[in-house]
Amino acid sequence: MSQSIKSKLSMSIAIIVIFTVLLISILSNLTIKSQFTKYKEKQQVMKIEELVDSIEHQYDVKENKWNEESIYNIGMSALHEGYIIKIYNKNNSILWDAEVANMQLCNEVIGEICKLMENNFQVLNGEVMSKKYELSKFGNDIGTMEIKYYGPFFLSQNDSEFIKALNYIFVVIGIISLIIAVFIGHLLSRNISKPILNMIGVTKHIAKGDYEYRFDKDTKLKELSELQNSINLMADSIEKQENLRKQLTADMAHELRTPLTSVSTHLEAMITGLWEPSEERLESCYEELNRITTLVKDLERLANVENGCYKLQKSHFDMFELVKRVSANFEYKIKEKKIQFELIGEEVIIKADQDRIFQVVTNILSNAIKYTREEDKIIIKLYKEFQYAVCEIVDTGIGISQEEVNHIFERFYRADKSRNRKTGGAGIGLAIVKSIVEAHNGKVEVDSVLGEGSSFKVYLPL
Ligand code: ADP
Repeated sequence: MSQSIKSKLSMSIAIIVIFTVLLISILSNLTIKSQFTKYKEKQQVMKIEELVDSIEHQYDVKENKWNEESIYNIGMSALHEGYIIKIYNKNNSILWDAEVANMQLCNEVIGEICKLMENNFQVLNGEVMSKKYELSKFGNDIGTMEIKYYGPFFLSQNDSEFIKALNYIFVVIGIISLIIAVFIGHLLSRNISKPILNMIGVTKHIAKGDYEYRFDKDTKLKELSELQNSINLMADSIEKQENLRKQLTADMAHELRTPLTSVSTHLEAMITGLWEPSEERLESCYEELNRITTLVKDLERLANVENGCYKLQKSHFDMFELVKRVSANFEYKIKEKKIQFELIGEEVIIKADQDRIFQVVTNILSNAIKYTREEDKIIIKLYKEFQYAVCEIVDTGIGISQEEVNHIFERFYRADKSRNRKTGGAGIGLAIVKSIVEAHNGKVEVDSVLGEGSSFKVYLPL
């Protein structure tokens, strides 16, 4: 079952945070505990040394006497701190014993320490141990001291509370981080999933055929914003194609209806005997049928080029020669329209599909002738520019407006529809040009001013 981005992202962030906080807590806890343990062990050793030292101080060498009152004070204070001491004089007889002084207190103190350590530091396997230390002053042996304590070290109530507080802080930090992570994860995933859900909604509308739907709200995420723009562009393109398709149906109906109606009424009149089937009338029918045939051929050619179901038959040839041949085909029309025609250039050898390039030049030149007035000028220039052979066809004809110039290479696009009814084109010629030139890895550019003329440049790799 697929999961939503929102739940997946929130869950992933929560898992990462739980894992990180746990890891940090465990590691810090272990490090702090081990450092603390070392510190306490050192402190234990120092404390015992201090005790031995202060007991030794209570012996007066001159008078060969112990200060028993101070020994009592030191012993009791050590007892409160968890050290049970027993002091022997040099004759090995007991001078002072904490257990004799206050047995109950000794049991209580050791009992409490044992309980605390077993509850918190069971792993240490600590136990009550006893050690003997020789007492001496100015090099003279003055007795021994036996110390009983919980080893290797023990913690006081304060120490244990400090460790508990640390653990508590880690738990609190963990919970707070988790709450923050879940909250941020929720916001983050909402920021991502909201525009995606939006996109799904819009694309569903587009899929249903409501092509006018677009994204208007901009997301702050770069990739999603790019995706939105791409979907908008795709919708633009689909809408344009759809409009072209509708326009094509209308155009085709119109283009076919006029000649077909005319042919059928002519023929009907001749069949019913209303008209004599004169040569002139039959020729007019033939012309109309020819127009339909040309249109169908153009469509077929475009379908061929656009479906890519043809292979380029490339060979080396002189482009200048080819342009000359195309121009020769239009000689009659050029003369008929009294156009001033000029061809400038020299040999340019290219490797391309000759027939297709012939078609390209034919389509552009035929447009130039179609869309020029009588006595206008057409110049064809052929030259090399960087790694391209450039064929420039310039006319001083009627030109194309700036809004329309960007569309003329689209299928079935005809600038200024009304004027084209007369010229008879179906808006396919330049679409064929573009497809062929691009199949040769070339490009075609147009520059035009309405009322002044146009310039078409075809770039083909040398
Ligand atoms: P058509 O069959 O209508 O000529 P094309 O695809 O060859 O179709 O051209 C598309 C449109 O571009 C034409 O309808 C025309 O309006 C415009 N056009 C093309 N060439 C020229 C030109 N040399 N001068 C002015 N308009 C042009």
